[in-house]
Amino acid sequence: MNESIVLLSVLVAFLFGLATGKAWERYKLREGRWIDRRKARESPHYILGLNLLISNQTDLAIEELTTAAGIDADGFEIHLILGNLYREKGQVTRAIQLHQQLLQRPKLTKVEQAYVLLCLGLDFRRGGFVDRALEAFTEVLRFDQSNQYALLNLEKLYEEQQQWQKAYDVRQRLAALADEPQKPKHEAILAFLETQLGLQASGQAPPLKAISHFKAAIDLDQTSVPAYLNLGDLQRQEGLLNEAVSTWEQVPRIAPDKAYLVFDRLENVATEQGHNDRFPALCRRLIDANPQDWRARLALGRHLVTFGQPLKALDLLFESLLHNPHALAIHQVIWQALLALHFTEELVTRYMTLTREAVFYLDPHVCMRCRYRSTELLWQCPQCHEWNTFTEERITLTEESEDESH
Ligand SMILES: [Zn+2]
Repeated sequence: MNESIVLLSVLVAFLFGLATGKAWERYKLREGRWIDRRKARESPHYILGLNLLISNQTDLAIEELTTAAGIDADGFEIHLILGNLYREKGQVTRAIQLHQQLLQRPKLTKVEQAYVLLCLGLDFRRGGFVDRALEAFTEVLRFDQSNQYALLNLEKLYEEQQQWQKAYDVRQRLAALADEPQKPKHEAILAFLETQLGLQASGQAPPLKAISHFKAAIDLDQTSVPAYLNLGDLQRQEGLLNEAVSTWEQVPRIAPDKAYLVFDRLENVATEQGHNDRFPALCRRLIDANPQDWRARLALGRHLVTFGQPLKALDLLFESLLHNPHALAIHQVIWQALLALHFTEELVTRYMTLTREAVFYLDPHVCMRCRYRSTELLWQCPQCHEWNTFTEERITLTEESEDESH
C-alpha cells in the first residue's frame, strides 16, 4: 500500500506537470528579477530525489527534494511531493502543514487547487481525521467532478463508516466514468455494496427491503456469492425452504470454489425435507468437476459418517487429506470414522502414513492484491480494502496471477 501511494504521488505530480506545463509561466518576476521557474525541476537534486523515491528510499528522497525545493521556494510540485512523502513516513502534521501552505498561495489554478486538496484529503485520512478528509475530497470534486482518486477515497471512507448508501452512490459515479470493458468490475463492487445495504435492512420485518437489495445485487453481478448466501438465509428464515434451496444452489454453479459455503445450509434443509440423496449428489458433482475439491470430499465424508457408512467415508476423507493435510476439520471427521470402525489397525496405519509428510500452515486465504493472509474467506480485504480479492492458496495456486490491481 505504501509503495503504491508513493508511486501514485509521483504520478500525480507528473500528470500535473503534463496537464499544466503550458499554462505555467516559465519565468516569474521576483524581487525585481526574472527567475527561471524550471530551475528546480532541472536541478540534479530533483531528478535524484525522484529516482530515490521510485526505489523506495524515502528518507534520502526527502533530503534531495528538500534541497531542490530550497533552490526554488516557489516550486509547486516539489512541495506537493514532499508533503506526500512526509505523510507516507507517518509525519502527518508536517504533511498537512506543507499542503495547507500550498493551498494558501495566491493565484492557484483550479487544477492546482484540486491536487493540493486531494493530497490534503489523503493526509487527513492517514491521520484519522475522517470528517476533514471527507470535506477535502468533496471539495476536490467541486473543482474536478470526475476526479477518480477523490471518488475512490470517498468511497473507502464511507465504507469504513459503514455508510453503504453513500459508498454506493460514489461507486456509481465511478462506474459512470469507466470505459465499457471496466464496467463489470464496477458492477461487482456495486453488488457487494447492495448486499451490505441488504444486511443493514435485514433487521426489519417484513424483510422486503432486504430481499430487494439482495436481488438487486444479483442483477448487478450474477456471480456475487454473498448476495445468494444472504438471500437464501433470509428466505429460509421466512420459511420459504424451496426458494432458499434454489438460491443457495446457484453458488456451486457460479463459483464452484466457494460451494462449501452452502454445504451446511443445503445439507440441513435436505435432511429436514427428507431428501437424503440430494446432498451427496451435489458433492459428487463437485468432486467430478474439480478433483482437487477437498471440501466437497470432506462434506460428503462427514455426511456418510453421520449416515452410518464410515468405511466409504474414510476413502473420501483420506483423499481430501491429500489435497489439504492441514485442515483440522478433516482430521476430526477421520477420527470419528476410525472410532466407528473400532480403530482397525490397517486403517490407522494408512492414516499415519498419509499425515507423516504433511506440511502445516494455517492461513490459506490470500488477498491477490496485497497478499494479506486470513484463516477464513473474506469478501473485503482488511488491509487494502479491496472487494473480492481472496483466493484459497491451495485450490487456485495455478491461476492466481489474474490480478486487476493498479
Ligand atoms: Zn488486500
